[in-house]
Amino acid sequence: MFRQPKIEYKSNSQILAMRKAGIVLSRALDSAVAAARVGVTTDDLNTVFEGVLKEAGATSNFLGYHGFPKSICTSVNHEVVHGIPGGYTLQDGDILSIDGGAVVDGWHSDSARTVIVGVARPEDVRLSDATEAAMWYGIAALASAKFVGDIGAAIDDYVSELPGKRLGILQDYVGHGIGTQMHQAPDVLNYRSTHRGPKVRPGLCLAIEPMLVLGGLETRTLEDDWTVVTLDGKRSCQWEHTVAVHDGGIWVLSAADGGASALEPLGVMPVPLEA
Ligand code: MG
Ligand code: MG
Repeated sequence: MFRQPKIEYKSNSQILAMRKAGIVLSRALDSAVAAARVGVTTDDLNTVFEGVLKEAGATSNFLGYHGFPKSICTSVNHEVVHGIPGGYTLQDGDILSIDGGAVVDGWHSDSARTVIVGVARPEDVRLSDATEAAMWYGIAALASAKFVGDIGAAIDDYVSELPGKRLGILQDYVGHGIGTQMHQAPDVLNYRSTHRGPKVRPGLCLAIEPMLVLGGLETRTLEDDWTVVTLDGKRSCQWEHTVAVHDGGIWVLSAADGGASALEPLGVMPVPLEA
């Protein structure tokens, strides 16, 4: 018998508390993305990110996580996830995913964005735009989802129906529940599966984080025991938001506008909770 770990459903006031962690994180990612330019090191971005958290009185949930040494993951080009900020200097045309998290009053947030520095290759722009859109389609699906699996189905459908060369959806890494810990039940698959997953009901808080690749789906972990790269060396991309389901609808906790500008064109209006 396989027993699913218990899901932590949040009250409205707990979701409001999580929102604080989401807003700090959104600002910290704004600053890190703005600082990402040719000639800047990935460690510089970590310093910028940490500065915003510190000023807000927030802490990082990445720093020290199973020994992770930094407050963000910086994954460049064929690096998929969990890249460690360091002395690498960003080059013209690099595609960089910045993944970070913040903790405020014990509540966690988790979000990732991708930025292309210098002159972008058209296929990288397409990859990042498609990954971000796939994330928003997944978030939009959550608004009317019966099961958590509906999110992955929506992401899969969107990516499958894109015109042009097929983009791959990584299966080795998935989204997750989030709350008093960064990683909680349930898993949130980024692809269509026969496992529907648990029912969606108010109080469910999820990190939705599709990862798309230009090449094959196989990955390997480098000798630093963290950095995951594509086996074929083709480029990879990740976008992520922390999203809450409550009685009135959904709310994107790690987006400054709650997700309104991206979700409205998809026919979904996020609903904020009143304090
Ligand atoms: Mg993340
Ligand atoms: Mg995550």
